[in-house]
Amino acid sequence: MLDSPIPPYVDTRKAFLQEGKTTGNITLSRLPRFVECLASDQGSVQVELSFELNESGKQVIKGQIEAQVEVTCQRCLEPLGIAISDDINLALLRRQEDAEKLKGELDPWVCEDHKLDVANLVEEQLILSLPLVSYHPDKTCIERLEYSAKSSADKEQVNEQKDNPFAVLKVLKESD
Ligand SMILES: [Zn+2]
Repeated sequence: MLDSPIPPYVDTRKAFLQEGKTTGNITLSRLPRFVECLASDQGSVQVELSFELNESGKQVIKGQIEAQVEVTCQRCLEPLGIAISDDINLALLRRQEDAEKLKGELDPWVCEDHKLDVANLVEEQLILSLPLVSYHPDKTCIERLEYSAKSSADKEQVNEQKDNPFAVLKVLKESD
């Protein structure tokens, strides 16, 4: 996939007439609702969209989204890098009412004018394809966390003993 930014809008009249393609990347700052579902705003998203008419003359947007982002591990609550890959198969509709007539593997995408907001479409697809829960592949992530919490607690205990004035008293008392 190309490494140039995807245009913010596509004129759907032109896109379908030319059976065009748009390829590029999209920064996470353009996808604020998606970023809200993530552990950080670090990552990348690549998009490839093609505008085709299917056998029955329907306007279809096909393509692929690939994203590398950071979500929160539900076991240890630390960030976790994941890759998302999603196929796009959308029927472009002018009205929400037309969505009921759709059948098969096409999902509806309603765009009332000719200006298709690409970021909005990509954002919606990404949110839908985010896994509900994610975990580090290594099951020991929580053990590692418990271990580091335990070792820092041990250190605190050592410090307490050193600084404890009563420890000195105890020694004096014993020498009486
Ligand atoms: Zn984890």
